[in-house]
Amino acid sequence: MSGIFGVVSKKKSCVDELFYLGDYHSHLGTQFGGIALSGKSLTRRIHNISGSQFKSKLQQEYRLLTGNRGIGAISYEEQPIYVKSRFGDFCIVVNGWVNNRKSLAKELFSKNFSFSETSNNRVNICELVSKLILQRDCLVTGIEYMFSRIEGSISLLILTKKGIFAARDKQGISPLIIGQNKESFAAVTETTAFPNLDFKVVKELMPGEVVFLNREGMSLQKAGGQNLKICAFLWIYTGFPASSYHQRNVEKVRESCGRCLARQDKFKPDLAAGVPDSGTAHAIGYALGKKVPFRRPLIKYTPGYGRSYLPSLQNIRDLIAKMKIIPIKEMIKGKKIVLCEDSIVRGTQLKNYTLLKLWNNQAKEVHVRIACPPLLFPCIFNYSTRAKRELITRQAIKNLAPKGQRNMSKYVDENSSEYKKMVAWIATKLGATSLKYQRIDDMVSAIGLPKSKLCLYCWTGKL
Ligand code: SF4
Repeated sequence: MSGIFGVVSKKKSCVDELFYLGDYHSHLGTQFGGIALSGKSLTRRIHNISGSQFKSKLQQEYRLLTGNRGIGAISYEEQPIYVKSRFGDFCIVVNGWVNNRKSLAKELFSKNFSFSETSNNRVNICELVSKLILQRDCLVTGIEYMFSRIEGSISLLILTKKGIFAARDKQGISPLIIGQNKESFAAVTETTAFPNLDFKVVKELMPGEVVFLNREGMSLQKAGGQNLKICAFLWIYTGFPASSYHQRNVEKVRESCGRCLARQDKFKPDLAAGVPDSGTAHAIGYALGKKVPFRRPLIKYTPGYGRSYLPSLQNIRDLIAKMKIIPIKEMIKGKKIVLCEDSIVRGTQLKNYTLLKLWNNQAKEVHVRIACPPLLFPCIFNYSTRAKRELITRQAIKNLAPKGQRNMSKYVDENSSEYKKMVAWIATKLGATSLKYQRIDDMVSAIGLPKSKLCLYCWTGKL
């Protein structure tokens, strides 16, 4: 996942707004943070943020930049890209993923294009997108052409000397939302960035929609379609609790997920707790639904720690995960606990650094409840840290069924014996008293959008 943001202001300078819009997207990426400003000229700054946050990297220098239009990205690749073209100079940021990146790059090489930016020796997606856009007569038709060529999803912002083009990906996988305050227009992935900067939502772009923002306001460049397939995982895990997409607030949806989980259980635990922080809202919902106390027997010690997946070495990530969560024995000993979590990817941290701490502090029972169905397929629309072989579901299936006899649709079906065996295998592996996942229809009803408007590929393998 990445986050993109931009602002156009009537004020002399928009640097403060741009900086804080970026800061409020920090949870969406761990590798690069960058901004570009358009004043007398286009300027940009990009930092590696794997060792420290966007805010600490940029807070000294951002005030030295000038301009009343700007864009930025928190991302897995270096962005913004600066482009000199026949349309004039522009900077571009993108949010998404291109599955056919290799073949598109090959095609462009054959037309004598070259690439200057690379990420891990791969062509930078932002640069690839900009080169596709340049194949047409203007930026808007170029964006349409790019949409028609890529397999995956790309939303973007383009900063020119006159303003900002904002375009949402053709299926609406990632959100792109326009806000307005007294003197500025902004475009963001996360509406979390709006309240403290006094922005109000004026428009949520539809799939494939393109608008242009300048000092005078917003103008439509290309109408959007109705074929929305927004990522359901935004509400389960990736989105920030204060954000809303299509008027559905993330925190409220997570509470509804917890209430749905509570309805699945016949027994009453002594307390509901969340794996901090990702399971907290789901646990609050469970506690409200079940009418049991929400407690925090596991506390996350955040001062001084970065995010646990920052270091590239697994043993360092594990050490950080272990040290971050502190158990409170007085709340655990002898208790029948329901522990809520957003999802399970590998399961190692849940097992070793969460459940084990509850058992070591003499919990009586630990019932694990997961806010979404089992993750069976890695994301194909955005940068994903989960490889298929790493998923605990795949490990379960590998152990339960010989190669050639693994019918994935059976593991998607919550009523099949294969699904039940897979969940039981995972429960044993985790060392949980019991394990239940959310049913897909319950997750969809908690989100509150029609099923047809959600991407559920992670769970169903179907587009
Ligand atoms: S595959 Fe999963 S994470 Fe990716 S867009 Fe679809 S629901 Fe979201």
